[in-house]
Amino acid sequence: MSLKNNWRTATRLVHSGTTRSQFGETSEALYLTQGYIYDSAEAAEARFKGEEEGYIYSRYGNPTVSMFEQRMCALEGAQDARAMASGMAAVTAAIACQAKAGDHIIAAKALFGSCRWVIEKLMPQYGVEFTLVDGKDINAWKRAVQSNTTIFFLESPTNPTLELVDIKAVADLAHENDAVLIVDNVFATPMYQRPIEMGADIVIYSTTKHIDGQGRCLGGIILGNEEWIKEKLHEYYRHTGPCMSPFNAWNFLKGLETLPIRVAHQTASAGKLADFLATQKSVNRMLYPTHPSHPQADLAQRQMSGGSTLVAFEICGGKTNAFKFINTLETIQISNNLGDAKSLITHPATTTHKNLSSKDREELNISDGMIRLSVGLEDADDLMADVKKALDSIS
Ligand SMILES: *Cc1c(COP(=O)(O)O)cnc(C)c1O
Repeated sequence: MSLKNNWRTATRLVHSGTTRSQFGETSEALYLTQGYIYDSAEAAEARFKGEEEGYIYSRYGNPTVSMFEQRMCALEGAQDARAMASGMAAVTAAIACQAKAGDHIIAAKALFGSCRWVIEKLMPQYGVEFTLVDGKDINAWKRAVQSNTTIFFLESPTNPTLELVDIKAVADLAHENDAVLIVDNVFATPMYQRPIEMGADIVIYSTTKHIDGQGRCLGGIILGNEEWIKEKLHEYYRHTGPCMSPFNAWNFLKGLETLPIRVAHQTASAGKLADFLATQKSVNRMLYPTHPSHPQADLAQRQMSGGSTLVAFEICGGKTNAFKFINTLETIQISNNLGDAKSLITHPATTTHKNLSSKDREELNISDGMIRLSVGLEDADDLMADVKKALDSIS
């Protein structure tokens, strides 16, 4: 048997999915083309009939994009995938391609802001109902089930407070009710959490984050089984056009090659910062999935194989001190993005989560002192020095 079938993750991330042209290039080729030429009218007819393999139009198939999709499938253990223009294009497509008027979605309350908008504001315009639940409480998921529930949607760890949802328990509940579970796995990264093995039907990434990892391109991807992609997603994808640019796919292919070493380095630094922040007087609360103080540390042990490149913490003294802390930082930059080589700091209450009502923010523990830190590839000691100096400025 070929060794290829047993490649470990890092090897798959360098080699899987590669198709070489007649020139035998080392690096993946960038096929920056909209369309494809046929040898004859008969060949065009055969391809449109599906009797001959080949690409037709880059809105629904491109060799560089296919290489990226195949490499992601190899990483995730999924049968098939479709790459999208952004993480939100992927979230919207995964829901909209299968929800019908009269269906009901159950989602965890703690979601990326735009995901909540799609479920709370967009889908009801098409007659799709929803219930938002406390994702940590499996009984809340159970109580929300209706006879018309068809989709369960969750994110774990959550943005920005790094709470966890028991993926296996929610997947089992979804299947008992003939529904599907969609997991937005961005915060865990594909390195630390494997939703398909825990029963998730569909996994989504914003590849904008760790998969690019250097803050360049927007992208997203939906992974699932062959039948679901063929029957539910493919036609939606083909006709509505949320496709990924070949240039971005090429960039993400290169990003995947270095994903394991980047995420490992960033996680090691984030872990050091988490340990330090947990002991500081001017920090009320520190949230990091594998830290012993995390309220769901057991679940983190069970369903994740690593911590996080992000740390959440609450500064004493609310917004005033949170802003002072952020403004004193020199190495760590202010941004709402995450998963970059550059360390980025966010004040969720006034930026990423400002559209939630104050009651919603309170329910999600997004206080005015809450800060989210996305740890980059800088030397951990430089980041530590920056955080120490900023903490000194408020104490
Ligand atoms: C960033 C993000 C998205 C949206 O991705 P874009 O690429 O910005 O469209 C969705 N979910 C989570 C958890 C994210 O962090």
